Amino acid sequence: MGKRIAVIGAGAAGMTAAIHAARSGARVTVYERNDRVGRKILSTGNGRCNFSNENMSADCYRGSGKALVDAVYGRFGVPETKDFFAGLGMRIRDRNGYLYPASGQASTVLDVLRYELDRLGVCVHTSDRVAGIRAGHPGFAVETDGGTSAAYDAVILACGGKAAPGTGSDGQGFVLAKMLGHRIIPTVPALVALKCREDFCRRVAGVRCEAGLTLYIDGRAVRCEAGELQWTDYGISGIPVFQFSRDAAYALREKRDVAVKIDVMPDFTDDAAQRAFWDLRWERQSSRTAEQFVTGLVNKKIGLLYLKLADIRETELAKDIPASARRRLEGFFRSLTVTVRETNSFAQAQVCAGGVDCTQVTGRMESRIARGLYFAGEILDIDGVCGGYNLQWAWSSGAVAGQAASERG
Ligand SMILES: Cc1cc2nc3c(=O)[nH]c(=O)nc-3n(C[C@H](O)[C@H](O)[C@H](O)COP(=O)(O)OP(=O)(O)OC[C@H]3O[C@@H](n4cnc5c(N)ncnc54)[C@H](O)[C@@H]3O)c2cc1C
Repeated sequence: MGKRIAVIGAGAAGMTAAIHAARSGARVTVYERNDRVGRKILSTGNGRCNFSNENMSADCYRGSGKALVDAVYGRFGVPETKDFFAGLGMRIRDRNGYLYPASGQASTVLDVLRYELDRLGVCVHTSDRVAGIRAGHPGFAVETDGGTSAAYDAVILACGGKAAPGTGSDGQGFVLAKMLGHRIIPTVPALVALKCREDFCRRVAGVRCEAGLTLYIDGRAVRCEAGELQWTDYGISGIPVFQFSRDAAYALREKRDVAVKIDVMPDFTDDAAQRAFWDLRWERQSSRTAEQFVTGLVNKKIGLLYLKLADIRETELAKDIPASARRRLEGFFRSLTVTVRETNSFAQAQVCAGGVDCTQVTGRMESRIARGLYFAGEILDIDGVCGGYNLQWAWSSGAVAGQAASERG
């Protein structure tokens, strides 16, 4: 008879773990607090599920688990993930290295996982929230809110973190891990928008523009990102903002000063070329109004905002604008600084940074504190950048945990 394994949480990581454990001959029971499995998967990649990325490396991850990424991906990485999904019948579309189901539907990813759980006879308890796990000697007793208790040889904790709690991951997994003696690295929202102090954000809300962004913590430049910046009425969003949002979140948590410098003309890399560009523009557009002068440079709303910040009236003729005001205006295009007061909440975050300390977990995803307990997915202190990296971590850590847990100890 195979080992009896409980998987807590039927998200991307839990379902993958259950499939791999069952394929290795274990008798698997999955507990999911929602009335259905895999709810979060449906909202990923704007409903299209960017499930992995061909450009994979440990540098795309943050947290205490960077070393773990190499160990786990050496066992089950991107090629194995593609084979896994292809084997479940899912065709894959590669968009510049970003991998999606060819159907363009996140529901495909969930469907093929569900069908495989069914085929393997995995017992799935939905609307069944695990309230406690007691370590026996050997094995574990899994206790639910409904008052049931069942014994297992091994348990895989795959409850997710705290991001998007509406999908079920409300941080309960950390409570369970802590009960069993694990250290939890403080959690913050990541891949999330930033709220800024400046009221002027409202004036450009809704604008999207290419920009180079630099994150400053206590006045020191710590990260640079480039891409499509999205202005909102409360601050800044978009992929480049998401990419450094976890650094901003941890700095804010420590009450440090956080600011972002925005360059809306990132294609200007050469100072001399830039000077020549502005000189020519002031000369050629000298008889135009200031509004006309900024039109065509970048999104018009941004141009008008910068005029205001530079204290230039829209109706003023370009030739009448003094040199000092001209330099101020030019300066805003290359460098506007916004101060960050907080991040958006976990409810709007794509992932949760922080979690179970990865130094307490082996390369086979087993706890070093409680033998027979395994972890998978976002519950761990490891978070990836945007681009399919977080789901890849869920598939890889789930597969490794499922296989390892089903092996005879
Ligand atoms: C809007 C959005 C878009 C995203 N887009 C992408 C993307 O395109 N690409 C990408 O790589 N990543 C994306 N992510 C991140 C990615 O979805 C997650 O990192 C990944 O799904 C985490 O999987 P998980 O299985 O570890 O956790 P989860 O998916 O959070 O699953 C945990 C499960 O455990 C259940 N659970 C929790 N506690 C208990 C308990 N006590 N008892 C029983 N069940 C419990 C929960 O209900 C949940 O179903 C996105 C996230 C969001 C929110």
